[in-house]
Amino acid sequence: MSRVLKSFFGNPSSLYKKAVESAVILDESRLVCATTIHAISQEIIFTGSASEANNMVIKSVADNSNKKRILSTPIEHASVIKTLEYLGSKGFEIVFIPIDSTGRIIVSEFEKLLDDNTMLVCCMYANNETGVIQDIQLLSKLAHSKNIPIFADCVQALGKIPVDVNELGVDYASFSAHKINGPKGVGMLYVRSNMPIHPFIHGGHQEHELRAGTESLHNIAGFAEACKAIQNMPLKMTKLSKQKEFFISEIYRIKPDAIITSPQNDFGLPNTINVSFPGINNAHIIAVLNFFNISVSAGSACNTQSNDPSHVLKAVGLTDQQARESVRFSMSSQTSWGDLRYTLQVISKFIQGKFPPIEMYEPKILNEDFLFSADTYILDVRFWYDRVLVKGIPNSNEIPFFTFKKFLKQIPHDKQIVVVCQGGYNAPIVAFELALRGYKRVGFLTLGILGWKQSYPLIYEKYGNQNIKKLK
Ligand code: PLP
Repeated sequence: MSRVLKSFFGNPSSLYKKAVESAVILDESRLVCATTIHAISQEIIFTGSASEANNMVIKSVADNSNKKRILSTPIEHASVIKTLEYLGSKGFEIVFIPIDSTGRIIVSEFEKLLDDNTMLVCCMYANNETGVIQDIQLLSKLAHSKNIPIFADCVQALGKIPVDVNELGVDYASFSAHKINGPKGVGMLYVRSNMPIHPFIHGGHQEHELRAGTESLHNIAGFAEACKAIQNMPLKMTKLSKQKEFFISEIYRIKPDAIITSPQNDFGLPNTINVSFPGINNAHIIAVLNFFNISVSAGSACNTQSNDPSHVLKAVGLTDQQARESVRFSMSSQTSWGDLRYTLQVISKFIQGKFPPIEMYEPKILNEDFLFSADTYILDVRFWYDRVLVKGIPNSNEIPFFTFKKFLKQIPHDKQIVVVCQGGYNAPIVAFELALRGYKRVGFLTLGILGWKQSYPLIYEKYGNQNIKKLK
């Protein structure tokens, strides 16, 4: 990638020599990416992300069909679910195919739903939260028997299980470089020859007139390099499967009532382990693991803008609470046995209560009495854009999340400290660090200010943003 940035800076669409050199890189990269999924170059469109590719297929098919129904699953990635919701608001009929408790489509139900009004089947190959793998080959056959095209989001599958678009029989498929150790900001859309597709971004003639905008050549070249690197995948996956088995058996030893939501058979990705720890708030355990440099996430994208429990875990039958007790461990081919043992050690110590405790304040606790008590000290660690979207809790003290350690001298030891963030996932990171630094009465607001706003809409309206102090 750096070679491309340094030496191949010509615009692939221009005519001069430098530009043609860039066009060659683009061509070569396209061939490598196409070959990786057993496609041909003409069937590949590079995009800015898989989210864009997902939007492009679904909206293109919907815009150009005289049918009204799209079949999908309730466990798709947000870039599919939200696109479908959007189309639903425009009058399309979105039907979610029933799934079983492992997340697999119930084939007999699927067959019943395929009708003359269905324009597209949209089903991910492997799920990002639980790793469940769908039988895309069978679903393709069934969809095609009714002349319905099928689109598979293959983002999580590539690099972990074989992806051959011909064997799978899909008409459209999406991919993302950063899921196979490539760069962020580049996706790929496979469109089977002769299948219809229309531009999503209009303007230029790039990507066979289908995706306007100068190509991100270094990213595309990086995507191709990442594709080359997954060629010896099967060997690595055997190791990952063994690691997954070991990790799960150790989790059961440490926490016998743990719920493993990821399939432990051939229908589960070898690298994804979703665990629900009964009685343990996932934000808390994630914060502790984060402190020990172990990067995991909640079942759902634990972003700062939302505190919704994972729609995937709920769709496979977990309650809201169980979903909020879930942690997703994703391994890569570089994850060592030592990494796993280290992670298990930290989890074990956490479960045995060997780390300094932190309080968990449910939103309901933060009533007027609590908020206006002289003993309460609210520490707001939100990002500036969160503060633009949602007002602050009255009497709070704002500090930046990344540099909060600079402000330690100003944070009192004799008060009850409640660290707050937008959705409830950043605050425990700060609260845990404060506890490690000797703060005895420290905790975080579960579900964040979003949850508190829902619990106390009137207090939010009346006192939100009042008496906020920015620590300097
Ligand atoms: N689809 C799935 C299954 C994913 O896991 C992701 C990323 O997390 C995406 C789509 C979106 O990919 P990108 O980040 O390239 O938009």
